[in-house]
Amino acid sequence: MSPDAPDRDDARDNPRAWMRDAVCAEIAGDLWFPERGEGGIDAAVAICRTCPVMEQCREAGQGERFGIWGGITANARTRTGKKTAA
Ligand code: SF4
Repeated sequence: MSPDAPDRDDARDNPRAWMRDAVCAEIAGDLWFPERGEGGIDAAVAICRTCPVMEQCREAGQGERFGIWGGITANARTRTGKKTAA
């Protein structure tokens, strides 16, 4: 079995298994939800760009009304409907 096999199995059994590798999971606060008033858009996006699961997160965030997902703000998702950088 290759070292990648457990990840593929995880993805099939749990579509959000990628969240285990989310950089933001290690950081307290609401940086990724600027609509809650903490307003850390630039900082959050910069961190997202270092995240190993940014693409999975961006896909998962499509259609989400709130929060920064994969470096994309809610406003940018609404405005463009595309996967563009915030
Ligand atoms: S891309 Fe950003 S919001 Fe998504 S899991 Fe990584 S750090 Fe969190």
